[in-house]
Amino acid sequence: MVKHQLRARGIADEDVLTVMGRVARHLFVPFSLREEAYEDHPLPIGEGQTISQPYIVALMTEALCVTGKAKVLEIGTGSGYQTAILAELANTVFTVERSSTLSSAAQQRLRDLGYENIQFVVGDGTLGLPAQAPFDRIIATGSLPRLPQGLLDQLAPDGICVLPVGDRFLQRLLQVKKVGSSVEQHNLGACCFVPLIGKEGWSS
Ligand code: SAH
Repeated sequence: MVKHQLRARGIADEDVLTVMGRVARHLFVPFSLREEAYEDHPLPIGEGQTISQPYIVALMTEALCVTGKAKVLEIGTGSGYQTAILAELANTVFTVERSSTLSSAAQQRLRDLGYENIQFVVGDGTLGLPAQAPFDRIIATGSLPRLPQGLLDQLAPDGICVLPVGDRFLQRLLQVKKVGSSVEQHNLGACCFVPLIGKEGWSS
């Protein structure tokens, strides 16, 4: 997976490649789909949701430029796979999930794997977590119709957020950097994520 799907397609950050090689992706997918866990496509994880394909997880993680001191906010815990990748690289990860079923399963899984630097929250992550802000990094693993100002406000100076923004079935993956009082946006390419349902997301 690391060699053919990630390195060969341009993922170059050695820390990202190392953790993608270390975290056992098959532990995050339903038992019946374990044989497909390392293949080049998303997989269902229950509750109508999906775990992104390995390349997208690596691309987003690389663009997030996570350092060992970073306090990260993840919106959309899902299976907890992206959470694990972030927890390997960051100081602390706050992860918000709308579905309490998915959040509990991810919490159990990540605790069993020994992660101690993750805080789980059930709620509407499109609003961020104002009480825990500011965050050095923010990542959304579901799509948004627009970039919420509230999330930008919760980003620390020089912070970075990575999120898919656009229409329901086609988005641009954006890397947004907060520089002084303005923001710099980079388009990482077209993508299609499941929607974030919430106040600053989609209505259903
Ligand atoms: N990163 C996950 C995949 C997440 S799919 C993984 O690695 O498995 C997107 C997730 O966002 C889904 O689990 C969905 O339930 C959740 N979600 C949808 N709307 C949300 C919201 N407003 N706040 C938080 N999570 C939300």
